[in-house]
This record gives sequence, C-alpha cells and structure tokens, in this order.
Amino acid sequence: MKTNNFRTMRFHIITIFPRIFDSYLKESIIGRAQKKGAIEILMHNLRDHTINKHKKVDDTPYGGGAGMVLQVQPIYACVSEIKKIIAKKQNNNAHVILFSAKGKKYTQRTAERLAKYANLILICGRYEGVDDRVAEHIADEEISIGDYVLTGGELPALVLIDSIARLLPDVLGNEESAKDESHKEKNYKEYPQYSKPQEFNGWQVPEVLLGGDHNAIEKWRKNYFKKEKKQ
Ligand code: SAM
Repeated sequence: MKTNNFRTMRFHIITIFPRIFDSYLKESIIGRAQKKGAIEILMHNLRDHTINKHKKVDDTPYGGGAGMVLQVQPIYACVSEIKKIIAKKQNNNAHVILFSAKGKKYTQRTAERLAKYANLILICGRYEGVDDRVAEHIADEEISIGDYVLTGGELPALVLIDSIARLLPDVLGNEESAKDESHKEKNYKEYPQYSKPQEFNGWQVPEVLLGGDHNAIEKWRKNYFKKEKKQ
C-alpha cells in the first residue's frame, strides 16, 4: 500500500478539550512515532478563536431543541489560520475532516486513503453537534467511526490518528509489522496467535504451530478463516 511521501504527517486537532489527548498520544507506538518525526500532532483550542470576551464557542439551536451547538465562527477562524500557516510553511494543502455520528463510516480503506495526505485537520464536535455550515462549507468530508453516539469527536480523532500512523513508513518496527493484519483486504482476518505456555488450564496451543513445519504453519494460517466461513 502506498502512503504519503512526506517525511512528517501532521494531524491538526481542533477541540475544546485538548487535555483529553495528553496521555494516549505520549505512549507506545504513537509516542515513538512523534519522537521519530514520522507524525506531528498539533493541538488547537477552539476557544482561542472566538470573537467574544467569554470565549464561548456554542449557542442554542435555531428552531429550538435540546442542548447547544458548536458555532461556525470559531471553527472557520481556526481552520483558516491552520490552512494559512500550512500554505506558508509547507506550500501545501490540508484535508479537513469533521467527526459526526451521521458521517461516512470509517474503515481500513479510509485510513489507507487518508494516510496519503501531509496534513489532516480534525474537527471534534461536542454537545448536540456542530453548526451544519461546517459540513457544507468548511469540511472536505464527515466521518463516523461507527453506528453509535459518543460525547465528542476526541475519541474518533484518536482512532483515526492511531490507525493511520501505523500505516506510515518507519512507524511500526518489524515485530509490529502491519503487512499481514486483519482488514488488509476486504473481509480478511488475521489467523489466531498464541504464545507461551504451550498448555494453560488444559487449553492447548494448536499442534501444527509446535512442530516447526513452516509450510504446514503457513497453510494452517492461510486457511483458518476460510474453514471457519464454510462451517
Ligand atoms: N446530536 C448528534 C447526532 O444525533 O448525530 C450527536 C452529537 S454528539 C453527542 C457530539 C459530537 O461527538 C459530534 O458532533 C461528533 O463530533 C462526535 N461524535 C459522536 N458520535 C460520533 C461517531 N460515531 N463518529 C464520529 N464522531 C462522533
């Protein structure tokens, strides 16, 4: 699979809760990917882009109804500023994503497609959602990570960053290789994995994996889910 040719892929997160991201993004593969310079994550607090003195980013919905709606003005100002900086520093464009429970469903194919961009701007909604003019005029696409409703777009942003980063060159080491993983193609599931001990609570590791016959192991792995589907 081809990914982007840029050395660093940049994720610009627009949120009213930047601290939500702190611990997850510092740890493990995603933390290392940032240290290596494979990815950069830039946090933008939406409240810094309001034009009212109380830094209010939401208001009641036109037509009535429960809850508050994130307003178009601060989102427009924030996205415009990020785009301006990218254009100036990198002579490049950014692709803008709005997280939405009613967006197009996120899949491994979406991750592969988005991994080709040098800059993704991720807009995290909150409350009852986002003024729809953001979807109409600012975002390039609306993405849902599944058929359920979350409190905000921050978890979807983490899901997207994590799944894209592992596709980029030099992010995974050999031990963590992405080449034979589930969803590498439609309906593909990875074979089951086992580690020591060989027997636990009477539960055995499949015999074929213990014999050292690499052809037999490969055949078993290749056919595992094909057999399951026929049953
Ligand atoms: N009232 C909205 C609806 O019924 O579709 C749900 C708003 S939700 C409480 C607040 C924000 O969380 C959304 O604007 C979106 O950014 C994010 N969100 C919630 N569920 C999501 C999902 N399944 N995928 C992506 N983003 C989601």
